[in-house]
Amino acid sequence: VIEIRRLAKSFGANKVLDGVDLSLARGESLVVIGGSGSGKSVLLRLVLGLEAADRGEVLLHGAPADARLRARFMQDFGMLFQSGALFDSLPVWRNVGFRLLREMPAAKARERAIASLSRVGLGPEVADRMPADLSGGMRKRVALARAIATDPAVLFFDEPTAGLDPQRATAISELIRGIVTQTGATAITITHDMRSVRTIADRVALLDRGRIRWQGPVTAPAGGLDSDPDPVLRAFVE
Ligand code: ATP
Ligand code: MG
Repeated sequence: VIEIRRLAKSFGANKVLDGVDLSLARGESLVVIGGSGSGKSVLLRLVLGLEAADRGEVLLHGAPADARLRARFMQDFGMLFQSGALFDSLPVWRNVGFRLLREMPAAKARERAIASLSRVGLGPEVADRMPADLSGGMRKRVALARAIATDPAVLFFDEPTAGLDPQRATAISELIRGIVTQTGATAITITHDMRSVRTIADRVALLDRGRIRWQGPVTAPAGGLDSDPDPVLRAFVE
């Protein structure tokens, strides 16, 4: 679904990405981990075409991503932003049904939004509340409901558990896992939260010093990794 080849990006003298290779098969849930400033958000922006790469290429569904292909890709794409990024002036259901409202009458969009809310464990009574009146955990759920409202084939989650206590973080991770499994969507999750990795990921990739330094199935024994001489990599092993 997505293939990233030798992708490179610098800001001035700061070489952020220095030849990233990464691919993602249909229905797979990939988690990208990496320290603060390792370039995870930059990688996301390059894949989405929000920023231009210095070198390398991104293939979407097997073809080099140009503006037209990216536009089509984005139509069938759901995103959970790191901040949650809800529209504070809109009630919950309009936040969730934001894209639906462009495609169908409001009554129908509202119905779909409520159905989407129920998939993340929120009842219809939440639909007319304002984002500011919700807890942090509920806001994350609303953002998640928005990401999945159009049943996209590809999902992107940027730090979905950031700012949540461990219990709520686990609940969100489990929701994401459930959604990915049920819908068969292809998912990329960016996170710092090692606890969520085992729940969400089929495969995990470590981004460090501009490259993918390690990747593999989460179920793989960590024995090989423990002996890795790379201290950054070792630090990521539980
Ligand atoms: P975090 O986990 O803290 O979100 P990250 O892995 O997402 O970190 P990025 O936001 O991708 O990190 O940033 C990687 C590096 O690129 C940082 O050193 C950052 O300062 C730099 N950077 C990102 N965007 C720009 C920009 N527009 N101009 C200059 N430098 C940038
Ligand atoms: Mg970031």
